[in-house]
Amino acid sequence: MRREQLDIQLKTPEQIELMRAAGLVVAAALQAMREAVAPGISTAELDAIAEKVIRDAGAVPSFKGYHGFPASICASVNNQVVHGIPSAEQVLSEGDLISLDCGAILEGWHGDSAITVGVGETDPQLLRMAEVAEDSMWAGIAAAARGAANGRGRLTDISFNVEKTVRKGGRYGIVDGYGGHGIGTEMHQDPHVLNHGKPGKGPKLVPGMALAIEPMITMGSPRTAELSDGWTVVTRDGSIAAHVEHTMAILEDGVWVTTAPDGGRARLGDLVTAKQPVSSHSE
Ligand code: MG
Ligand code: MG
Repeated sequence: MRREQLDIQLKTPEQIELMRAAGLVVAAALQAMREAVAPGISTAELDAIAEKVIRDAGAVPSFKGYHGFPASICASVNNQVVHGIPSAEQVLSEGDLISLDCGAILEGWHGDSAITVGVGETDPQLLRMAEVAEDSMWAGIAAAARGAANGRGRLTDISFNVEKTVRKGGRYGIVDGYGGHGIGTEMHQDPHVLNHGKPGKGPKLVPGMALAIEPMITMGSPRTAELSDGWTVVTRDGSIAAHVEHTMAILEDGVWVTTAPDGGRARLGDLVTAKQPVSSHSE
């Protein structure tokens, strides 16, 4: 990772407030889908639910038309890891594990977030994997917050803490070749955020940075393949996968998880900025 080649967009606090507004739209769309997930619903129906929430909020679904992607969400079921295309034919069954990934643009600023949820009664081992993925995401965000606060943080401190948490959680595959990213006036910006690796490398973590942190892990091998639809990423060994994501921004006095309704307070405590405007979307 040669930092002189990276083009990192630093945001002002005001711009981060705009990202927060976009993030809350994404959170609302994900919450609506979480409530709708049940055996018998199709991923196309979930996509329609998310698109309506996003458009009703005056925002635009960032995925739709992104390099030709046809929908507002990625819906990745079971052995699908990420980038699954919603379809009326893909109907959820009891016991499925689904990743729902969603993005919105509001006033030119982006939010990007994903959840993994079980459909009806789901194997506790799969739910445990989803929980480990989530824990690893929060560990990565916390590492960014601590590193920004002490002035010594570097990008791969996030990667290192994601990996450490996954390894501690069990024998999961950490998907390679996909990861988090800078985010702001585009959904995908520099830098790429690996979900594994040594700490202390890459650009310094400084106020104004906004990053999407998104671990992807599997019950088996980390190896993936892309389906002939040109989008859907599946595990090569057929093992089931989990994927979660939040967008976070670094402010002078802490981080702000722009796609979490509480800004990250419940998971991060004092690592979160004190500057939290009241919002109608907040819990
Ligand atoms: Mg995403
Ligand atoms: Mg993303």
